[in-house]
Amino acid sequence: KAARFPGLKTLEDFNFDHQPSADRNLIAHLGTSVFITEAKNVVLLGPPGTGKTHLAVGIGIQAAKHGHRVLFDSATGWVARLQEAHSRGKLAAELTRLRRYSVLIVDEVGYIPFDQDAANLFFQLVASRYEHASLILTSNLSFGQWGDVFGDPTVASAMIDRIVHHADVLSLKGASYRLKGH
Ligand code: ADP
Ligand code: MG
Repeated sequence: KAARFPGLKTLEDFNFDHQPSADRNLIAHLGTSVFITEAKNVVLLGPPGTGKTHLAVGIGIQAAKHGHRVLFDSATGWVARLQEAHSRGKLAAELTRLRRYSVLIVDEVGYIPFDQDAANLFFQLVASRYEHASLILTSNLSFGQWGDVFGDPTVASAMIDRIVHHADVLSLKGASYRLKGH
């Protein structure tokens, strides 16, 4: 797949009866892709198995249907891509190129902590898209815990500040869907 989604999870497939903490109306709105034309972000927070990746991919599929260019990768995947560009002296060019994608999905922020270089590269990705193009991020950690992921509370708060300035933040709750016997 061009967008490199990990699976074809659509918003229609999402069972809201199993996830009452997900705001149906907000997710329906995100499915219209209007937030992308406003360069707004979406942050999906919650424990493992609560549907964060499913919803991120579902919103991304809608965006692609509406003609937006979308790319999906894990947070560590994005950092590896930026590290590679940086090592070739092409970081700025890569960030510019990525701005041609109106949506980047950054899955699993916080599963693996970043060293300082990785944290700085990730910050540059966020800063480069701020008020220009959308990010959809998922994390199993609350914003308060992001300081630990990025090894530096100052970098973390500067990043969160830019992410949430124009964003919808959804906090999903409950037990893992994977353990429900589906
Ligand atoms: P997370 O990213 O929060 O860890 P996922 O989105 O990967 O969780 O969800 C785990 C699995 O359960 C996936 O196969 C996903 O499609 C499915 N799933 C989770 N929540 C729902 C739901 N409310 N309706 C339908 N499928 C769901
Ligand atoms: Mg996930």
